[in-house]
Amino acid sequence: MKYETVIGLEVHVQLKTQTKIFCSCSTEFGRPANENTCPICLGMPGVLPVLNKKAVEFAMQACLATHCQINPCNTFDRKNYFYPDLPKGYQITQLNLPIGEHGHINIDVAGVKKRIGITRIHMEEDAGKLVHGENEDQGKSYVDLNRTGIPLIEIVSEPEIRSPEEAREYLSQLKAILEYTAVSDCNMEEGSLRCDANISLRPIGQKEFGTRTELKNLNSFRFVQRAIEYEVERQTQVLDQGDKVIQETRLYDSDQGVTRSMRSKEEAHDYRYFPEPDLVRLTMDTEWIERIRKTIPELPEQNRKRFVTEHDIPEYDAGVLTASQPLANYFEECVSLHPQPKTISNWIMGDLLHELKNDDREIQDCPVTPGSLTDLLKLIDKGTISGKMAKTVFEEMYQTGKPAEEIVKQKGMAQISDSSAIDKMIDDVLTANPQQLEGYRNGKEKLFGYFVGQVMKASKGQANPALVNQLLKDKLTQQ
Ligand SMILES: [Zn+2]
Repeated sequence: MKYETVIGLEVHVQLKTQTKIFCSCSTEFGRPANENTCPICLGMPGVLPVLNKKAVEFAMQACLATHCQINPCNTFDRKNYFYPDLPKGYQITQLNLPIGEHGHINIDVAGVKKRIGITRIHMEEDAGKLVHGENEDQGKSYVDLNRTGIPLIEIVSEPEIRSPEEAREYLSQLKAILEYTAVSDCNMEEGSLRCDANISLRPIGQKEFGTRTELKNLNSFRFVQRAIEYEVERQTQVLDQGDKVIQETRLYDSDQGVTRSMRSKEEAHDYRYFPEPDLVRLTMDTEWIERIRKTIPELPEQNRKRFVTEHDIPEYDAGVLTASQPLANYFEECVSLHPQPKTISNWIMGDLLHELKNDDREIQDCPVTPGSLTDLLKLIDKGTISGKMAKTVFEEMYQTGKPAEEIVKQKGMAQISDSSAIDKMIDDVLTANPQQLEGYRNGKEKLFGYFVGQVMKASKGQANPALVNQLLKDKLTQQ
């Protein structure tokens, strides 16, 4: 380990407003191309932007939830560049007086707790999208401006992240905070949360930063981690060979698992920022800020601490269960129906999250409701089914959405807890195995396990194992 990794993340988050940031066009995702547009977001000459108050309030919530100080005076600026998906020829953003500054997020990587600073949060508008034709459409490009003018915040971290794992954890904590406050749906597939990463290496002990590269548009947690891992490895090799890292923007190719140069510093844009003349400065008085502060709900960190004290579950479990608010709610609903928090936590972290992950589904779309999960757990408690059977029943519940009891009945899975029936099976097994019985009597006590196995087999796994053990012991000591 010769080098220290220095990572800073810039995260763009779409705010969950109904309408765009400077006009009243809808923000609905998936509409036909260019349907959600008007002269303002199409950049027609002479139109004037009007700031969406709800977007400002969402941005304020994001600032307060990440411990940022809100600037009572905000200004907007024009960032000029030409691109076909930007009809105005500039993007309205905030340069000198952003909405929030000096915040932080607490992370925990394998038990090591750390605070990552947030430099700033600013508001801006999104650009449109280019669609490149394929097959017979090859060589043609189309532009869809539905996304133009969608309200975004950009959250810029301090360069205090030191590993790909910390980057991933920072991002998942940030996502959880934004979801808890409901300022964004954070849907990465729909582009509501996008991440750029600045990465550099420096010899351990050196204060000055090394030359950095920027990875653009990482759209999943896994890619963020992998892309950074690859980039750290690449820069290490460059430095080891005595070469210099070139300051450039790189793209991550998730199919090949490599990063590729997109543009070097020489080609970097000069945006010619200047104050946006069409928008007045935005002032936020204390009363407004305090009113918004009151709307901040319990955040993931507080939620985690409460789960540990209130439900007496390990910190690790609490961390997994508060990764999203719907998941935390699911857990608490289960606990209210069946007050065995640790058992429930085990089921959620194990079978439930496993199935959801396989299916690429969110907890909101889980076919097994808290009511049906706890019904299953009650069947185990009553001794109707064993813990092992419950796993099979759970899989079936997940696939079909049927209640536990119905599946147990249909499959004839109920555990046999009728002692006379088990007694009969024990007798049959002992009669059928006279040699082993004699062996047992002559001191081969290990054969006890063999008899248990035979009885379980005879019952097709349905006999209550504890009862089999007990009745078998009784019988063998009697005779
Ligand atoms: Zn519009």
